[in-house]
Amino acid sequence: MKILLLGKNGQVGWELQRSLAPLGEVLALDRHSQEYCGDLANLSGLADTVRQFKPTIIVNAAAYTGVDKAESEIELAQTINADALAILAQEAKSLDAWLVHYSTDYVFAGDGTIPWLEDDATGPLGVYGATKLAGEQAIQQSACKHLIFRTSWVYGARGNNFAKTMLRLAAERDSLTVISDQIGAPTGADLLADVTAHALRTVQQQAELSGLYHLVARGETSWHGYASYVIKTAQSMGQDLKTSPGSIAPVPTNAFPTPAKRPNNSRMNTKKLRTNFNLTLPHWQSGVERMLIEFLEK
Ligand code: NDP
Repeated sequence: MKILLLGKNGQVGWELQRSLAPLGEVLALDRHSQEYCGDLANLSGLADTVRQFKPTIIVNAAAYTGVDKAESEIELAQTINADALAILAQEAKSLDAWLVHYSTDYVFAGDGTIPWLEDDATGPLGVYGATKLAGEQAIQQSACKHLIFRTSWVYGARGNNFAKTMLRLAAERDSLTVISDQIGAPTGADLLADVTAHALRTVQQQAELSGLYHLVARGETSWHGYASYVIKTAQSMGQDLKTSPGSIAPVPTNAFPTPAKRPNNSRMNTKKLRTNFNLTLPHWQSGVERMLIEFLEK
């Protein structure tokens, strides 16, 4: 198989470089790549890349992910998150290639407490969610073979993430305030990449599994619960922190005003993915603990 990976240096892209490697020849690009264009803002360059490389699978891990910045950079977010996907989908369709793409819980309005199903009505609260939804729709309308994985609260062992920010703040301050009314599941980039590789193997024999899937770790928590778990785990590993789990104050979302509104209910029902691909999704705490061990024992 010939695999074109876009966004190779993002959290998910980095892990995909590892997980896709055993599946075939991988051409991994980022926006600065020279020989082939990997810039999603360059739509004709992107189409040329697909036409020249002729992949059997395109995996797009690149995205405009600045949720607040997107509110003032609407055009760029639309180009990268939606228009580029229309191009990739069109090129995938003409090559009969698979297109793998990642989307977000931010396509939902986030009301209620029930985990979202794939077919539930969407209602993005901001530009990022709206452009990601437009990207999904462009892929679906093209009728190319595709896997779209909607996920949430992604962290990677590499680069910055919420857990590392909490650890840094907890080392500096006696107490913290963290949002407690947004509920979701922290999901590791490594889990996303591994499930992608498993699913790609499966669809080579079962093309009818093409479609949209919710993919998050098991269980749920708030940002406050996430922060408390990170600090408790780090302390149990001997980290010297000024903040204890008991000195993290829960606050509502409106305590931290941001340009973009965020959904309160980011719970996602993953039954379709688990059933169709015969997979078990690990609890969010096991992935976060593993990332902390890798980070703290370096
Ligand atoms: P990252 O922000 O870590 O990675 C995104 C990558 O896209 C970066 O490497 C970035 O490059 C690249 N990129 C941005 N603009 C362009 C461009 N014009 N051309 C090429 N590459 C570009 O995101 P994640 O790995 O966390 O996200 C992966 C996917 O998961 C995305 O589709 C995202 O929407 C989705 N998702 C992420 C969530 C999260 O919490 N992070 C939650 C839900 C869904 P550079 O570093 O050079 O800017």
